[in-house]
Amino acid sequence: MNEFLKGHIKQEYQEEIDKEIVYSNNRRCQFVLLILIIPMSLYVSWKFIFFNQQMYLNLLFIFIGLIGLSLLHFQKNKRYIGAVHIFFMIVCLIWAQYTNFEGYQVSPNYTPYIIALMGLATIAYLKPKYSIILFGVNHIVFLLINAYLVHDNVIIVEITVNSTIAMVFAFIFSLLNYKARLQLFQNKKLVEELNLANQKLIEYVHTDVGTGINNRLAFSETLEHEWHSAMLSKEMISLIMIDIDYFKQYNDTYGHSKGDVCLREVAQCINQYMLSTSAFVGRYGGEEFVVVLPKTDKVEALKIAENIRTQVIILQIPHLGRDDNMDILTVSLGVASITPENADTSIRLLELADKALYRAKAEGRNRVV
Ligand code: GH3
Ligand code: MG
Ligand code: MG
Repeated sequence: MNEFLKGHIKQEYQEEIDKEIVYSNNRRCQFVLLILIIPMSLYVSWKFIFFNQQMYLNLLFIFIGLIGLSLLHFQKNKRYIGAVHIFFMIVCLIWAQYTNFEGYQVSPNYTPYIIALMGLATIAYLKPKYSIILFGVNHIVFLLINAYLVHDNVIIVEITVNSTIAMVFAFIFSLLNYKARLQLFQNKKLVEELNLANQKLIEYVHTDVGTGINNRLAFSETLEHEWHSAMLSKEMISLIMIDIDYFKQYNDTYGHSKGDVCLREVAQCINQYMLSTSAFVGRYGGEEFVVVLPKTDKVEALKIAENIRTQVIILQIPHLGRDDNMDILTVSLGVASITPENADTSIRLLELADKALYRAKAEGRNRVV
């Protein structure tokens, strides 16, 4: 039975679903109590004012309802709230039964009881054990009182058969209702898990495995997007291309795996440096990196490029295999800035930055052009 109800709900979600169910039961109980209390209060007042009739039992029920309402409203303890729900439901059933027995002297009337059974099965999400207690145990009590109070055997049989059928329906309906609630929860969780997996996938597709920063695909998408925004807002956009100097020699001197570690270190250094800004940092390919700077002019971009060059020097990565007289790893940077015109494409920015980088290499490396 539990298997049937729970379907594929994972153990780790048990507490969450319990909480959700208590929360929805709470809201529904409060809503129903309000619907019962308000018209009943109006009815009792009307009877009292115009007919001087004092309906003590209805007043008692209103009173119990008000107590239940305040308990449900103010009590934050989950366990206690669950008990209040059950108490509220039992009161509902007792009240419905009382209305039943009140009418026995005239004719058998079990409509309020059946309405109460069906109503509770619809309103509340009950765990099977509570369902059994509420509908099963309660019904046995109902039948005993019925047999004790009613003296006509035909009526006893009629009430017993009809109310039992109603009770069985209410019980089955309550189980299905609970299952539907679990299903809803499970679907919600599935969507959440799927969204999360999707997000991870997108992140994975845009991340460079070697360095842990954005990859070429992420760069192309970002550049295209920022280029378009800059074109619309008629603002300047800048691009920095960064290339490690004498990296082939680095590999030759220290080995390819040391080269990989070095690449990662430089990538993380640039990434960390730009982290607090809205700039995009990515690996363009090989030992080349790119920084996209939206809303940034040439002066600002050159300053940032110069700072990146300094940051790499601060890393003090030894590089004894260079062709020049330096002994640490450095980078060369090419900077380009454009206010995009309609006829331009982002490739133009890329070409300009690449040209600048080429010049930085030609002019002796470890510099910004
Ligand atoms: P320059 O100063 O002119 O930039 O010289 P360079 O040696 O850095 O440039 P070149 O383009 O001749 O060589 C780039 C080297 O980068 C060649 C390649 O082995 C190395 N490389 C590219 N990707 C990786 C990588 O993922 N890991 C390692 N270890 N090396 C890489
Ligand atoms: Mg290169
Ligand atoms: Mg290089």
